[in-house]
Amino acid sequence: MDFLLSQREELLRKSVREFAESELPPKIETMEKTGEFPIELLESMAKLGITGIIAPPEYGGVGLGYLARTIALEELGRVCAAIPMGMQVHHMAIAALNDFGTDEQKQKYIPPLAKGDTMGVVAVTEPSGGSDVLGMQATAELKGDKWILNGRKCFITNSHTSDFWIVIAKTAEGAKGLSAFIVEKDHPGAKTGRVEHKIGLRGANTGELVFDNCEIPKENILGQEGGGLAVALKTVSESGRTGMAATALGIVNACLEEAARFASERVLYGKPISSLQAISFYLAEIYTELDICRLLCYRASWMKDQNMRCDTENAMAKSYTCDAAVRCARKAVEIHGAYGILQEYKVQRLLRDAMVTVSAGGTGEIGKVVLARAALAPYRKKK
Ligand SMILES: Cc1cc2nc3c(=O)[nH]c(=O)nc-3n(C[C@H](O)[C@H](O)[C@H](O)COP(=O)(O)OP(=O)(O)OC[C@H]3O[C@@H](n4cnc5c(N)ncnc54)[C@H](O)[C@@H]3O)c2cc1C
Repeated sequence: MDFLLSQREELLRKSVREFAESELPPKIETMEKTGEFPIELLESMAKLGITGIIAPPEYGGVGLGYLARTIALEELGRVCAAIPMGMQVHHMAIAALNDFGTDEQKQKYIPPLAKGDTMGVVAVTEPSGGSDVLGMQATAELKGDKWILNGRKCFITNSHTSDFWIVIAKTAEGAKGLSAFIVEKDHPGAKTGRVEHKIGLRGANTGELVFDNCEIPKENILGQEGGGLAVALKTVSESGRTGMAATALGIVNACLEEAARFASERVLYGKPISSLQAISFYLAEIYTELDICRLLCYRASWMKDQNMRCDTENAMAKSYTCDAAVRCARKAVEIHGAYGILQEYKVQRLLRDAMVTVSAGGTGEIGKVVLARAALAPYRKKK
């Protein structure tokens, strides 16, 4: 077993860290105020290979894979988790197109994503409930050479910063009744709806997509008719969960750094508070959580790079790391005493951001449903 990163991965970490530390801090205040993603950063993220990190070179990407992606998202998230939130969904769209698209679809839609000309979207969730995918209401019906799409998607990342969206809708009843479509924002009847104002990950754009007799060319179906559940499940499991986990991993890094720095600088009773046992134990716990989260995230991404089945490992990395981010951020806030709730201290943002990672990409409970199924599999009676 080899826990060492390659030279290429270490170099990537260094370059993304340098970029994140120099380019993101000046944007944070505006992101926090406006709730808007700084799309002007796409060009430099494209130059670094971040936008196209999992896209194959033949479609304009750099094809570095999932472990590299996790490292890049972790480094961005260490400085500002809203950025990897937007980026990870962007990568989900690339993965869905690459896994299920025809060559024409890949040629047309992956390069603008890989080059950062626009952002990727995967729209599954509806007001009727994100966990109950089969309960969705949006419908698509084939009429002549067009699909007619009706319905509404909510909580969609990059909804307002993208030129086209991958949308799942019902084409029939049951598990084989969902299909995926590539919808361009200029298709007649397609529009963006409200923008959500979240407590955290403020700079990641989250909003609604609305389809009112939206006309989509027949050839814009992604994958097979009736194959939409597979598109949603594979994309959410393999790219979405690891992407959310890596975003939360960035937050855990920041929790340790902020907490350890403050504990070393804050003096009470003539000594830094790090010398108080209760505070040092908090630090020890965050330090250990960071290692656990990193190992879970890197393992899941490495398995994906080896083409191994990793839905259980992805669910474990996602549900553990997002919960750990909340635990660690809370401890980091507490170590700061009253300063922890002041806006000028980063830890309050870490706690707000961590809370938002928990339901995004599938809730913690749904992650545990997947894990419990895996735990019980050896004991399930054959019918
Ligand atoms: C920041 C952010 C970004 C997002 N981006 C996207 C996106 O790009 N695309 C997209 O399609 N969606 C996106 N979502 C939506 C996200 O996927 C959903 O919020 C999530 O699937 C849960 O759906 P829901 O919020 O409707 O909660 P519900 O499904 O209504 O769940 C409510 C509660 O019931 C629990 N619950 C539900 N089913 C079960 C069960 N079987 N067992 C135990 N407990 C259960 C849930 O865990 C939760 O606690 C995003 C959400 C957020 C917060």
